[in-house]
Amino acid sequence: MTQTNLLLGVAIAGVAIAATASLLGRKRKEGTNIDGKAIAATIRAEIKDHVAQLQKEKDVTPGLAVVLVGNRPDSATYVRMKKKAAAEVNFHSVDVELDVGVTQEELLQHVEDLNNDPKIHGILVQLPLPKHIDEALVLKRIAVEKDADGFSALNIGNLCLKGGDHPLSVPCTPAGCIELLERSNVDISGKDAVVLGRSNIVGMPVAQLLVHKNATVTVCHSRTKNIEQKVRQADIVVAAIGKADMVKGSWLKPGCVVIDVGINSVDDKTKKRGYRLTGDVAFAEAKPVCSQITPVPGGVGPMTIAMLLKNTLNLARHSSGLTPI
Ligand code: NDP
Repeated sequence: MTQTNLLLGVAIAGVAIAATASLLGRKRKEGTNIDGKAIAATIRAEIKDHVAQLQKEKDVTPGLAVVLVGNRPDSATYVRMKKKAAAEVNFHSVDVELDVGVTQEELLQHVEDLNNDPKIHGILVQLPLPKHIDEALVLKRIAVEKDADGFSALNIGNLCLKGGDHPLSVPCTPAGCIELLERSNVDISGKDAVVLGRSNIVGMPVAQLLVHKNATVTVCHSRTKNIEQKVRQADIVVAAIGKADMVKGSWLKPGCVVIDVGINSVDDKTKKRGYRLTGDVAFAEAKPVCSQITPVPGGVGPMTIAMLLKNTLNLARHSSGLTPI
């Protein structure tokens, strides 16, 4: 070997060692949290401004009626949170609290009365209802113009139709997921999205909304094969399966965005109440891999109520011949 070749070899080896050392030393930047609490507060402030404008221009105050049957503590907590949020944005708010033994006919009559009340623009019947009541029938009786949850067949149909009418309201949690992405400057168009779950209230509508935003969407469910491989292709992962920490960090494509809808309670003796809430994604493992992620709690949860308020505002605007915000 000539002296020149020897020097060249040493130099190349040196560069290679330096490059490897630099790669090993450079830690991937950890993903940032998407702060659902802060984004929801911003949306509520925007809604409050719109309410003032609607009152000034049309003399209309959006009205939300919440129907609660029985005394399930979780339902009572949700209803309390909804009432508090409605008061914060200056809605007219009506509570219908019914005994767990209410008959189906009586409940349907309450829904009918609210349908006929011109001060009410959005009706929400808190689910689940007691077993002796036909939930689907009760939901069907809510006038589509007052469907605060966005679950009516007409609103879901319009959500799915290309070129259909604008739905009067959109399911709250899925709409919240899209707001979180957009307000976190995630460009959805052209991206590969994987939705885990296909329920009527989360998985199916969120997949539709992503398609409308021009993502290419794969929907996974309990019969999906090779779910891990599918998740690994995704630029955007929306997890809505209800299985604590099921999605591992190793499943994720580096730099992807994770929206974790899951709310699971797992035993935790270190907590005063004996449990903690966790999502469907193993947060600590996912955070170093992804670029942005919603924590549980504090991610998607607060958005659901903000979107309920937005739906009710839009139903009130519709009743005055105005376009949605
Ligand atoms: P559902 O139970 O109605 O649906 C769960 C979906 O996940 C189903 O489509 C099911 O598949 C799928 N699934 C279940 N197990 C697996 C698995 N091992 N692998 C792949 N897919 C699976 O739940 P929801 O949609 O109502 O809720 C999902 C989660 O989101 C829950 O944790 C819930 O608490 C939470 N949630 C949070 C809200 C919020 O405001 N943050 C609001 C609403 C829900 P299949 O269809 O084949 O059965």
